Amino acid sequence: MDKKIEKLLITHANIDNKKECCGFIVLDNLKQLIIIPCENTYEFPSTGFRICPHEFLNIKKRYEIVCMYHSHPIGPAEFSQKDLDQADELCLPICVYSIQENNFTVRVLTFSTLTLRLIRWWVLVLPIAELFFDHRYIIEKKAGTSWNWNRGTGK
Ligand SMILES: [Zn+2]
Repeated sequence: MDKKIEKLLITHANIDNKKECCGFIVLDNLKQLIIIPCENTYEFPSTGFRICPHEFLNIKKRYEIVCMYHSHPIGPAEFSQKDLDQADELCLPICVYSIQENNFTVRVLTFSTLTLRLIRWWVLVLPIAELFFDHRYIIEKKAGTSWNWNRGTGK
């Protein structure tokens, strides 16, 4: 992981090292990696984390989210089932920093979350593609010639 980001995450985790910290690693407008600390709204912040959905949506609107992060004040840098469920729900890679062991674990997207992403993408792209090809077909018929992007040299 990026050394600057590691330092920032360790700093955030130690501001209140009795509670789990949480937030997102994002790309800003200049495509620089930065962190966006969030409030941990979980009932028992010493043993879990939760990010407010409104806060998540606001961040998602403004930045390209790379990874969701959080800390474990006690215990190893291993994900709990709740951690993994949250990451799957948001279709995001997740990383955890263990204060006790001073190390990180990162999990990138699993096959199922990637498939889900692809399906979402195709649902969006297919109708647009169909529209384009339909128009192309109509123009070809009217013009009595096949469409060719390389044409238009004046001949
Ligand atoms: Zn955790």
